[in-house]
Amino acid sequence: MTNEPIPDLPSYDDDSLRSAFAALEQRARADAAMLDGPEAVEAFRLRWLGRKQGLLTEVSSRWLKAAPPEAKKSIGLRFNELKQQIDDLLEASASAGPSDAALAAESIDITLPGTQRLMGAEHPITRTMNEIVSVFAALGYSVGVGPEVETDYYNFESMNFPPGHPARDTQDTLVIANQERRPLRDRLLLRTHTSPVQMRTMESQPPPIRIVIPGKVHRNDAADATHSPIFHQVEGLCVGAGITFSDLKGTLDHAMKALFGSSVKTRFFPSFFPFTEPSADVQISCIFCGGKGCRKCKQSGWIELLGCGMVDPTVFAFAQEKQPGYDPKKVTGFAFGMGVERIAMMKYGISEIGSLFAGDMRFLGQFV
Ligand SMILES: [Zn+2]
Repeated sequence: MTNEPIPDLPSYDDDSLRSAFAALEQRARADAAMLDGPEAVEAFRLRWLGRKQGLLTEVSSRWLKAAPPEAKKSIGLRFNELKQQIDDLLEASASAGPSDAALAAESIDITLPGTQRLMGAEHPITRTMNEIVSVFAALGYSVGVGPEVETDYYNFESMNFPPGHPARDTQDTLVIANQERRPLRDRLLLRTHTSPVQMRTMESQPPPIRIVIPGKVHRNDAADATHSPIFHQVEGLCVGAGITFSDLKGTLDHAMKALFGSSVKTRFFPSFFPFTEPSADVQISCIFCGGKGCRKCKQSGWIELLGCGMVDPTVFAFAQEKQPGYDPKKVTGFAFGMGVERIAMMKYGISEIGSLFAGDMRFLGQFV
């Protein structure tokens, strides 16, 4: 806004009056064009219409009141017109809202993606593991856990893999470095199965026990579509007086029906595990074709899903060193174990085990 004072009127003829009032009107319009907010509008109002020091008050006293009587009417008309124009400018500015500059400063780009708040959800492995555990929890099993960095004794020796036994070759794993001075049984390694928790649990509580053991395990397996050097197992152990192979079959048949549906059948084949005798592999009727034969079951109608067996008396003998109740002549029991990834891949139709560990939200988002 300019602060020029109101000039004197050069004369009172029509042309002089018209150009003098036109100059004022132009000045008011220039002022009004600069308004950029409510404070500026108020300043404009005070500057032009202020009762004591406003420019119109000055025009009134300098031009109108000082004019000779014959010029007063003409000046008065022009004065009223000018006041009306300033009122109009003021009204337009007050209702115009923020200026373009103010809007630009506050603008947001509505084409940018918004801030997404993601809901947490269980990883498919965690969910599958919890489902398996809950099936056995309903049968009265409690949950056992143990360390992932385990001693050779708990991982191998007490599970009846003696030093030099060929079964150790099937479970190669990472071994902690610089332990050559220690006795073999004390050396630390990444556990190859959840079975050491069987021994740790038996050592800490007398029979009878029923535990289910979920956890992460490590093996020197080359990664491919169905193998990963890290995977998860759920293992179970039931020990008491008079536990038989029939109890094992009944328990696993019930568990497979609870996990995969009541129409699922089970069958048992002789197998070998160092810590069970006799040992068996368990197959379930194919959940994809109902047993007719399809690509998933390689046309056999059956899918191999878990290993199991009656606890080897040698394992009880190791437990007996700390808990005399595990006398192989007085107690029997069974153990079983299954791979969580394999079951999750079957349940959710996942073809690559690697996608479970890649941390890709596009994959994981499907399980929310
Ligand atoms: Zn099939």
